Amino acid sequence: MIGGRSRASRASDTCSPGRTPKCGERSEERKRRVPQEPPSVYGVTVLGATGSIGVSTLDVLSRHPDRYRIVALTANNDVERLYQQCLTHRPAYAVMADADAAQRLRSRLHPQHPDIEILSGITGLETVAALPQVDYVMAAIVGAAGLLPTLAAARAGKRVMLANKEALVMAGQIFMDEIRRHNAELLPVDSEHNAIFQSMPTDITAGLDAAGVQRILLTASGGPFRTLALSKLHDVTPDQACAHPNWVMGRKISVDSATMMNKGLEVIEACWLFNATPERIQVVLHPQSVVHSMVEYKDGSILAQLGSPDMRTPIAYALAWPQRIESGVTPLNLFDIGRLDFERPDMTRFPCLRLAYEAMQAGGTAAAILNAANEVAVAAFLAGKLKFTAIATVIESTLANVSAHAAISLEAVLADDALARESAQRSIADAMQSRGTT
Ligand code: NAD
Ligand code: MG
Repeated sequence: MIGGRSRASRASDTCSPGRTPKCGERSEERKRRVPQEPPSVYGVTVLGATGSIGVSTLDVLSRHPDRYRIVALTANNDVERLYQQCLTHRPAYAVMADADAAQRLRSRLHPQHPDIEILSGITGLETVAALPQVDYVMAAIVGAAGLLPTLAAARAGKRVMLANKEALVMAGQIFMDEIRRHNAELLPVDSEHNAIFQSMPTDITAGLDAAGVQRILLTASGGPFRTLALSKLHDVTPDQACAHPNWVMGRKISVDSATMMNKGLEVIEACWLFNATPERIQVVLHPQSVVHSMVEYKDGSILAQLGSPDMRTPIAYALAWPQRIESGVTPLNLFDIGRLDFERPDMTRFPCLRLAYEAMQAGGTAAAILNAANEVAVAAFLAGKLKFTAIATVIESTLANVSAHAAISLEAVLADDALARESAQRSIADAMQSRGTT
């Protein structure tokens, strides 16, 4: 894990005494840790319960009722799905980010289940991320909306199981500092980062060089348009972009996979999680999505984690670390797979990947600006207002128009996030006008 704390009992379960996988943890912080008795049943909050990761998390949790108790479920505005999840999982709290949706959920749920407390808004999300009876928080809200609730979990010293990569992309330094300051645990759920974590040395607190790591090899499927003629990219539709060849995911991350901005965000995510510079991270196209990422060592070894493309594996790993529990995933049949292919990514086809590397190299709030512009551009593409190839154009012009600042505070990050959203909206309006669609 990555962060500030390791549960005493869990640490004693680890295969080696040095197995304290806390990316960036300082040795004096480790010495200060006070051993604590672990609970016999872990309380869990699932932020973004109605999404793709949220549903997979509930599936894994339901397989282990002796080990986990679901304390809170949250969603944006999907009342019907959260209502059904409340009936099935009986959490103590249900939160809808949208206040009207919370009222509708209350009217439906309270006649039968007045015991489930219903909260709303960002305050509700932050509250359930920090409840004393919660040990683990699955951070699976999509986009920048996940930043504040995920930070609340970090500040409350929880085990943060991080799927919401945008939070780290926006505010990497601030987020990592909060994890350490509050002795929280950070476990990567993104399949690639989970694979890297599993393939990393036991202790990287002295840096990757000292640990003998040469490079991180971050695999990418290349999405649905890896081999499509470049001339056809312009006209691809949202449904084509969301038809990922190997993974079933939410629509925003599916479009990010098609542009490979998802991989760009993951390069930035890996830099923060593993204290690496972007130059040390090589993206490797691997169309089968079986090798979830690799770590290359100075002696020439490459360690990899393989598995079926099913997020329940990294979710179960993050929940149970350092133990292993059943996830419901069918094991990989290597004979069926037969071969593994690897290719270099084509930066001409995938300009978003280049932009993400450039933003991380620029530092400060550049990554937050990149992320905000991407969210706005992807939403416009999904709404049929922007061409697929214009997503990268909007992001590039936003990065040129909005100056990055030092990411010294959350306020500084959020201010540049807001400026980037305005600038991206203007670029989209210009693009629509020049296409004659307004
Ligand atoms: P999704 O769109 O399926 O679900 C998103 C969840 O966030 C939903 O529960 C939704 O209600 C909630 N949400 C959306 N907007 C919100 C708001 N403004 N306030 C509060 N809640 C809000 O997305 P997903 O595919 O499950 O992805 C979730 C996160 O996990 C993303 O950051 C994504 O990059 C990351 N991730 C997903 C996968 C995957 O396989 N789906 C893999 C790796 C990482
Ligand atoms: Mg991923």
